[in-house]
This record gives sequence, structure tokens and C-alpha cells, in this order.
Amino acid sequence: MPEPVAILVAVEQEERPALAESCAGGVDRVLEQSVHDARMNGVIAVGANHPPSTYDIAELGHGASLRHHGSMDPQPETHGQSGRAHEREFVRMWDELEPIGRDRSTGGYHRYAWSDADLLLREWFAGEAAARGLELTDDGNGNQLAWPADAELAGRGDAVLVGSHLDSVPDGGAYDGPLGVVSAFAALDLLAERGVRLDRPVVVAGFSDEEGSRFGIACAGSRLMTGSLAPDAALGMRDRDGLSLAEVLSARGRDLAAVRPRPDILDRVSAFVELHVEQGRGLADMDAAVGVASAIWPHGRFRLDFTGEANHAGTTLMQDRRDPMLAFAAAVLAADEHAREAGARATFGRVEVLPGGTNAIPSSVRAWLDARAPDEASLVALVEAITLQARGMSRRDGTGLDVTPESVSAAVSFDTALRDAAAALLGGAPVLPTGAGHDAGVLSQHGVPTGMLFVRNPTGVSHSPYEHADPDDCLAGVRALADVLAHLAAA
Ligand SMILES: [Zn+2]
Repeated sequence: MPEPVAILVAVEQEERPALAESCAGGVDRVLEQSVHDARMNGVIAVGANHPPSTYDIAELGHGASLRHHGSMDPQPETHGQSGRAHEREFVRMWDELEPIGRDRSTGGYHRYAWSDADLLLREWFAGEAAARGLELTDDGNGNQLAWPADAELAGRGDAVLVGSHLDSVPDGGAYDGPLGVVSAFAALDLLAERGVRLDRPVVVAGFSDEEGSRFGIACAGSRLMTGSLAPDAALGMRDRDGLSLAEVLSARGRDLAAVRPRPDILDRVSAFVELHVEQGRGLADMDAAVGVASAIWPHGRFRLDFTGEANHAGTTLMQDRRDPMLAFAAAVLAADEHAREAGARATFGRVEVLPGGTNAIPSSVRAWLDARAPDEASLVALVEAITLQARGMSRRDGTGLDVTPESVSAAVSFDTALRDAAAALLGGAPVLPTGAGHDAGVLSQHGVPTGMLFVRNPTGVSHSPYEHADPDDCLAGVRALADVLAHLAAA
């Protein structure tokens, strides 16, 4: 008798390792957690709905069944360069990171700022810097920077920064962040293999607390560095255990006075390049392994407070009700309708209802709208259209509606010269925007010429254990990054 189950598993692991494993955890989770743009530059609350049991999980398990979640096993026959040092280094680095902060039951990662897992990741970064003879510095905000040891080279005022972040969202994927850091080190290895002379210092960066999963502010490290997040505000941020960042940093033996903007460092940076796994299906649809970012969409978080009158669900006639849930429902449907029409994104992912009884008409509904659009005018028009439709319903019902913008981030247009040069260097790679926020957006808004490379994500799923990139695409990303760095670091 053949064994159909065993055969199926073998085929799935070969072709789609991450998804094959996701099946064990329930495929429906892909739908729950999808998404292209689940992260942003503003104040976020993504962690609030998925509280981890603790922040200090260094390793939650390393089950053999999850082996392929993030592991790299490049196929020599497909690119014929299996013996090359940068490829071996890439695989080694990836395998070393794989168990850190991983939840054995889901295969997802819990790598929160200043947790035990985060400290292990920082140690790992320091080790990679040391192994390449780079000089590790910390900007005081927790951002790790690995400089060339050659003091004359490092002292030039035109450093090229390359990197990303190592922290994760709750139950996040292996690629978001770490792919950019591992690729940066591997790109340096490849440039060394090629014997490329770098006239400018290339500095590998590991930005601190990009996801904001613990304290609620995304890109806290880069925002502190650029000064767009005030030290006092940052130090006062609290995690769900009630600990402030100040308390957490003190417990880790860090100097609170060192948390401050670092224009002195940024003034020495002439460009920043961040490679990132794509958080959508753009490249997959275009059949391209690597793409270049054009822009980050503007996005906003809006709190909608619908107010009405609590009453008995059984005795109150329908025409006598002041039910705020109805205007909320109109808003949800309007968000879907208008975002589809505008090619934008609108999501209600969080809602609070009072008094919250099955047999009670609500007195109030508080909901949060996450809206993103290709440009700021479209974003404003989208939110207005949603609000207008909701107000129509609230007028009919005699209910109230207040809309409060909680955070609105402007569009980020990446440096056009860098973008065009990268696209040309990469043989006309696709240029595409993203709805997700990144440290690259923060540095770009600060005035640092910035570019991003995206690596194809076959399913587009991100911020989920099912996030994936194929090993060959990852190595194509390393080669692309090396090409861009060679261009930027040439005198
Ligand atoms: Zn990221």
C-alpha cells in the first residue's frame, strides 16, 4: 500500500516549506493574521490583542517538526553557487537565529524589545560584527551599528548604512527584519569575495524595537535616534506588565541619560538601504525575486466613538432605539466599499462595546479604523467617505459619532536617485510602494537619502509564522543589496 500522507508531506516540504508546516497549526490562521500592511510608523496597538504570557522568553522550543519554518537550504542546482562563502554564511546566520524567541507551538517568534530573546539577538549581532572585524557601537538608544575598523575610513562623513531590525511582532515570522540584517552581513561577505573596494564606510545597522510590540510605539529606536520620539516620552512608555521603558532599560544595566537624538551619527550618514521581505504579493504577481520600493503609503489610525442609549433588547421597539452599533456597522461596510473603490486599505480590527450584554442595546461603541492609501488626498477622502456614510446612519437613529485621529503618518517617498539607480542596477527590477512602515521611512523623513529593496514573499503573508521567502530569492536579495552597496560606497 502506498502511503499518501507521507508523500503529501514530502512534496509540501519541498515546494512550500513554511506553508506545509502552517498546516499543522491550522490554515485558518493565515486568514486571521494576513497582511500586507499590519504595521505602521505611528502609535500601534497590534500587540494589545495578542498578549504574550511573558516578555522574557528566550527560546520557547525548537521542535524538529518546525525545522523548516525559517531554515535556509538553498538548492545548489538552481543557482550553481553553493560553495560560495557568502551563501554558506547566510545559511549559518539564518540557522543561528532560527531558535531565538520562537514559540514551539506556533512556529512564530516573540522577540520583544529588551526581552531575553532580544538580548540574545543583540549578542548575535555583536558576534557577527566581531567575526568580520567590524567595530560595534550602540547609539545609546539600543540601535546597534557595526563600523569598519579602519578609523580613517570610518571617520569619513559619508557612511552608507545598511540593515533592518531583529525584533518581531507577537507570533511574527522569521523574515520581517532579520532578513535585512542577515542580508547586510552577507552582502559585505559577497563584496569581499568580489574584491570590491569600498571607498565609503559601509555600516551594518540593527535598529531597536522596530515593531513596537512591547511598548506600543513602532520604530522607537530609529525615532529616538532621529529625534522624532522624545526621550522622556519613550522612557515613560509602559508594557502590559506596567513596566516603563526606563525601568526595563535600568534593569538591563543601560544608561538612561544616553537615550537621546544622535544627529552627530546621522550627520555622518550619506545613505541608508533596508532590505525587507515584501509584505504583500506584488513581486509574486510580477514574477520578480527582488524589487525596489518607491514609497510608503500615508496611513492613519482613527478612533470612532459612536454613542447611543442602552436599553432592553426585548422590550424596546426597533423604531424607538438609539443603537450606536448600526452606525458602526455602516462604517465597517463603508470602509470596505470605499477602500476597494480607491485601491486603498481600511480595517476595523478593534472594537469595544458598552455595556457589552447580549440582551442589551449598546450605549456606546468605540472602534479603531486603520486606513492607508496611495497618497494623502486619497487617505483624507477615504476617511471622509467612511465618516459620511456612518453619519447618515447615526442621523437616522439619533446617535452620536466623534472621529479622533490618533496617529497619522505622512507619505514617505524614497530617494528618487537611489531608487532609480537601484532599479537600473538590478536590471530593471520592479518599483513598487508599500503600505507598511519601516525604519527606512523614519530615516527618510529625517532627510537621509534612503532606499528599500523587497524580496518576494510567495503568499504575501506577513506578521505571521507563515511569512516566507524562498532561499534562492533571499540569495538574489543579497546579490542585489551587494550591487547597490557597491554603487553607493564607490567614491
Ligand atoms: Zn520589518
